[in-house]
Amino acid sequence: MSLPADYHMHTPLCRHAVGEPVAYARHALEIGLMEIGFSDHSPMPRDDFDNWRMLDRQLDEYVAKVRLAQKEFPQLQIRLALEVDYLPGHEDWIRRLAARHPWDYFIGSVHYVSDSWDIDNPAKLSEWKKRDAFEVWSAYFDRLTLAAESKLFEIIGHCDLPKKFGIRPMQDCRPLYENFLEAVAQAGCAIELNTAGLRKDCKEIYPCRDLLEIAFRKNVPITFGSDAHAPEEVGLNLTEAVALARSVGYTETSRFKLRQPESAWL
Ligand SMILES: [Zn+2]
Ligand SMILES: [Zn+2]
Repeated sequence: MSLPADYHMHTPLCRHAVGEPVAYARHALEIGLMEIGFSDHSPMPRDDFDNWRMLDRQLDEYVAKVRLAQKEFPQLQIRLALEVDYLPGHEDWIRRLAARHPWDYFIGSVHYVSDSWDIDNPAKLSEWKKRDAFEVWSAYFDRLTLAAESKLFEIIGHCDLPKKFGIRPMQDCRPLYENFLEAVAQAGCAIELNTAGLRKDCKEIYPCRDLLEIAFRKNVPITFGSDAHAPEEVGLNLTEAVALARSVGYTETSRFKLRQPESAWL
């Protein structure tokens, strides 16, 4: 079985990943991948917004690093992409980012449920104690739904990120998934199966099976990503992610080139 494309990987420009894109590409070839995509954390309108992304002036350097990997490994399909934070009101900024380079796809991710709280940031774990888990999940899925509706992204990233630290609401979250996935289906974007969750406290792929089952029912396309922040994480646990996708009924995955989708057998 050949592995699907790994569409989610980072570079040291985001200040919390290691290894140059050429090293990620080399590892991808070693484990038999045919296609990968770099999707590093995009700049924000203000460089001092936080400290875990590239600076605006580094965007060209990022593209050059990916181009270098493409040149060095022509036998590997290497896509140029970004993981872009969705915050309400940032739509014009995201459109301007899109115009700056010939991107293959944008992953739209929600990390911030407010302008100051990135829910997956271990340094802000204490914030979780101040809030009701279901309120956080609701706020997160409200934003994720807006991200889908914006039609600014080909792929919505790690769709149930709030479970990262293993803090889960008592309530049934399926109505939140349903509402979000209806927006995804209407917008025609894909969601990713992101294996980084297996390396976190939640010990589970993003998204959970319940969410993926609803996605399949609504014909929402899928992509795969390791969310590698180091070369040896490339392709990690993609086999498990494929098994999960197949077990809910998926037989196809999406690929993107210059923001145009194409489907491939899984
Ligand atoms: Zn990261
Ligand atoms: Zn992310």
